[in-house]
Amino acid sequence: MLERRISSRVMVGPVAIGGGAPVVVQSMTNTDTADAAATARQAAELARAGSELVRITVNSPEAAAQVAPIRERLDATGCNVPLVGDFHFNGHTLLAQFPDCARALAKYRINPGNVGRGAKRDEQFATMIEAAVRYGKPVRIGVNWGSLDAELLARLMDENARRREPLQSGEVMREAVIRSALESARAAEELGLPAERIVISCKMSQVQDLIAVYRELARRCAYALHLGLTEAGMGSKGIVASSAALAVLLQEGIGDTIRVSLTPDPGGERTREVVVAQEILQTMGIRSFAPMVAACPGCGRTTSTTFQELAARIQGFLREQMPQWRARYLGVEDMRVAVMGCVVNGPGESKHADIGISLPGTNEVPVAPVYVDGAKTVTLKGERIAEEFQAIVEEYVRRNYAPGATRERARNIPIKAA
Ligand code: SF4
Repeated sequence: MLERRISSRVMVGPVAIGGGAPVVVQSMTNTDTADAAATARQAAELARAGSELVRITVNSPEAAAQVAPIRERLDATGCNVPLVGDFHFNGHTLLAQFPDCARALAKYRINPGNVGRGAKRDEQFATMIEAAVRYGKPVRIGVNWGSLDAELLARLMDENARRREPLQSGEVMREAVIRSALESARAAEELGLPAERIVISCKMSQVQDLIAVYRELARRCAYALHLGLTEAGMGSKGIVASSAALAVLLQEGIGDTIRVSLTPDPGGERTREVVVAQEILQTMGIRSFAPMVAACPGCGRTTSTTFQELAARIQGFLREQMPQWRARYLGVEDMRVAVMGCVVNGPGESKHADIGISLPGTNEVPVAPVYVDGAKTVTLKGERIAEEFQAIVEEYVRRNYAPGATRERARNIPIKAA
């Protein structure tokens, strides 16, 4: 069990962030918020994939005018995922001019680097915080490396230049990011927003910078922390960079909510970022969301792609079932499934899983033994191995995770192929 950093608990609608609550997964739409139908559809898809908060851009009067209708569309379909409004440059105006928008959102994200310049900055920041106080909403003070408060950075650079032993410019930049967040959060408190309604983030695009900044934030404040690597990138690079950064911090107990900022492949699914965030948490043993499939990488012992196809099919099937299963089968998200390519590690890995199958490798007898709770129960063969194994998995779920079922009792019930 990892020891978590103690932070304030912030309620975002019904979702708790920090204060010992499970690490929350969140995501962001990439639709035009002025298109209420498309945004509500994507928010619902993200929520269905497991996003517990969904952030939407609120960048124009047209977008702000559609926030309440988006909320209504979601409510009408029974989707109660809290919506977070992402404000830059004109948030003070939009929150003042569109009270329905201010009410419909469950949280406001404010970027202190994009609030305004000079004297206007403080005034516009105050207007947004006052809206949060008036409507009883929490706020994320979301600093981003790419839009750092230029005046604050210049001030810290000047201070550094006067030091007897000046710091490296990278260190000054990191300190500026941290100060921007902490000074803004404290200014928000002075304006009447309680610490229990403030979440902080300091998103960086480099893994080592992110780790250094969050360690320091965790040391210097008790605000709930939103964790994420900004501009993580596309494909495997984005996933690896996010996993590397988040895993180090989560392992140290730092982070109350996470978002994985992936650039989708052209035509790719936005929900990918939700799945990756869940898999980071689940593979680290922090939270469970859906049964995980262990599959071997394959090698020269198997020349077919059967086990890869079966592993992908079973993982997809498990994820598809989860919205219904979650409501019906207690603890099913912890189930472990193995799909292995040959006799070398297949039986062993399958025995360690709750349910596993060891497919035949090259030159092996074309049969696939299935293991349930460590014991071989049936051997599948022929063209319908995939369908039969899927049916066995479903049966296993019904018998083991339905209300009243106990794992011990279920182990004594022989499971037959469909
Ligand atoms: S289980 Fe068999 S096919 Fe899979 S990686 Fe190991 S030796 Fe290769």
